[in-house]
Amino acid sequence: MIKKGDIIEGKVERVDFPNKGVLTVDEEQLTVKNVIPGQYIRAVVNKRRKGKREARLLEVLHRAPGEREDDVCPHFTQCGGCIYQSLPYKEQLKIKEGQVKGLLDSVYPGGNYEWHGLKPSPLTDRYRNKMEFSFGDEVKGGDLALGMHRRGSFYDIVTTTDCRIVHQDVCQILEATLKYFQHRKVPFYQKLQHVGYLRHLLVRRAVKTGEILVDLVTTSQTEWMAGEEKYEKIPCLEKELLSGWRETICALDLEGKLAGIIHTQNDSLADVVQNDRTEILYGQDFFYEELLGMRFKITPFSFFQTNSAGAEVLYETAREYIGNTKDKVVFDLYSGTGTIAQILAAVAKRVVGVELVEEAVEAAKENAAENGLKNCSFIAGDVGKVMDELTEKPDLIVLDPPRDGIHPKAMPKIIRFGVERIVYISCKPTSLIRDLVLLQEGGYQMVKACSVDMFPHTGGIETVVELRRL
Ligand code: SAH
Repeated sequence: MIKKGDIIEGKVERVDFPNKGVLTVDEEQLTVKNVIPGQYIRAVVNKRRKGKREARLLEVLHRAPGEREDDVCPHFTQCGGCIYQSLPYKEQLKIKEGQVKGLLDSVYPGGNYEWHGLKPSPLTDRYRNKMEFSFGDEVKGGDLALGMHRRGSFYDIVTTTDCRIVHQDVCQILEATLKYFQHRKVPFYQKLQHVGYLRHLLVRRAVKTGEILVDLVTTSQTEWMAGEEKYEKIPCLEKELLSGWRETICALDLEGKLAGIIHTQNDSLADVVQNDRTEILYGQDFFYEELLGMRFKITPFSFFQTNSAGAEVLYETAREYIGNTKDKVVFDLYSGTGTIAQILAAVAKRVVGVELVEEAVEAAKENAAENGLKNCSFIAGDVGKVMDELTEKPDLIVLDPPRDGIHPKAMPKIIRFGVERIVYISCKPTSLIRDLVLLQEGGYQMVKACSVDMFPHTGGIETVVELRRL
């Protein structure tokens, strides 16, 4: 019998979505994070959770077949961002395809639907147009760090100056920012004590246009600037600090073009990038990216697909599944900056987008106008609520919800429209299958499905499915 604290060794049989390695030791199944199928590993057994045994990886004793030894990202084993950096891209695709297919088949046993496979990302390195770095320390009390969370850690940060999934410009901005604040001994925000100043560095760099938007997120706590004893705010000091940082960023020799440098204040207790107040330090607080021949304005707090080249494949796939929309009215639910709505508007009678974040809706309206589209409109609000207010019946519904999927209360309202076909785009297959069950109960059958790898080297997978009403 395996018990907590035991050191075990074994071969990883498979990895379940999103990052759950499975191995069997003494006829008992255990799950271990951050491993690759075929690796022979040593791990320490944790306590049982929900009847399942978990273990924590200690060491990889033998690599998986095909796993690379050299030319692997230097941050790989530390950084919590990627899990497949050491594996050739083809092998990554095989794992992800198996994961999605397995999940879909759990709802549709026997696979009685068309499976169109997993489409690769056109770019596998430096593909991301957005990165959210956190300030912290590498170890408690250590130097200021800026980058990603350490694997499995809530507090420790790994400085990721050589990150391979973002453009070198982004790495340069990260490094310069870190050095600037290290040199001035500026404290980072400590999540437990709720004290400190530096929280996140958000860098967005459009792949097509090369435009860059940099956002420094801090608290409003500036007391430390005046020394320990004095607790009055001294705004001029903060101003100097920020203008010095701005000059540092402006002086960098970047390949792309700086569209703007902004400062966001966020005093919320939750560890998320959130906007309490934003000031522009340089340029403007938005930038443009191009997808499928259209231009999209992106603002700091609106959602935009993080892999631009991959997004083109994703939207092309969605468009193919959506099919002929001539003379049809389409609802684009969870519309973000209105990308899908606009791609469809060119070939539909009318498209109505619904999106929670007002800033994104404003951007969507502007984008549609700039792209010369007059037949799409956008409504700001919760899909669950807006569905109650819309009286018009669409011909087709496109769903592209956030990671948690469709809110169970919103689902019956979507089903109630009784459209013939629904195209569901999902960034988390485990949420998708939960929703597929609900849709099946509501009379919708999945007829085809396909995945697009929007997130090379990481555990993420995007899936598009078409559903028909029985
Ligand atoms: N279709 C868009 C955005 C998809 S991401 C694109 O391809 O770019 C999901 C979007 O749903 C985000 O913009 C998020 O702000 C929005 N959202 C989250 N919860 C929502 C809700 N309850 N109602 C409406 N929109 C919501």
